[in-house]
Amino acid sequence: MIYSAAMGTPSDSTERQRNLWAPWRMEYIDSLARPQEGCFLCRYRDEPQNDKKNLVLWRGANTFAVMNLFPYTGGHCLVAPYAHVGNLTDLDAATMTEIMEFLRDLQTVLERAICPDGFNVGMNIGRCAGAGLPGHIHMHVVPRWSGDTNFMPILGDVHVIPDFLETIHEKIHQAGRELALPKFSAAGRR
Ligand SMILES: [Zn+2]
Repeated sequence: MIYSAAMGTPSDSTERQRNLWAPWRMEYIDSLARPQEGCFLCRYRDEPQNDKKNLVLWRGANTFAVMNLFPYTGGHCLVAPYAHVGNLTDLDAATMTEIMEFLRDLQTVLERAICPDGFNVGMNIGRCAGAGLPGHIHMHVVPRWSGDTNFMPILGDVHVIPDFLETIHEKIHQAGRELALPKFSAAGRR
């Protein structure tokens, strides 16, 4: 268990210790300073043949789910509409419903796959609010573990991440098969 070695990390009450420390996100943060290379969600949408490489989990009628390549914690996933739109007001009712269904089923599958103690679910709207991709709205599902703000520094070596993500990707698929999720409602899947 990758986390266990750090469970004994002394905790203190400094601000740094209370916040998740995810240094691999520096690659992502650095990328924000570069000229934009297009929308990765649109690219993933348009290349289903690369779903495994892109860590795409599920495709619905209007929505898809993908693992975050720059996670805050293991199993950090995104749910996005196929449409490249930046606001909730741009989404129709069917898409809104499907996003919520995917969030519900992702939480269930993640509980089976990696046993988190809780979740943060939400969205960042606008770059000032932390949205790395303000043009294409997406919901974050971030699994949390009791004490993870203290033991996350063990994941500081970015080189562990690719294998780690592939392992979790497979675990999520396995859990989905066992639970027969996601439930694709009336709209079906694309
Ligand atoms: Zn897009």
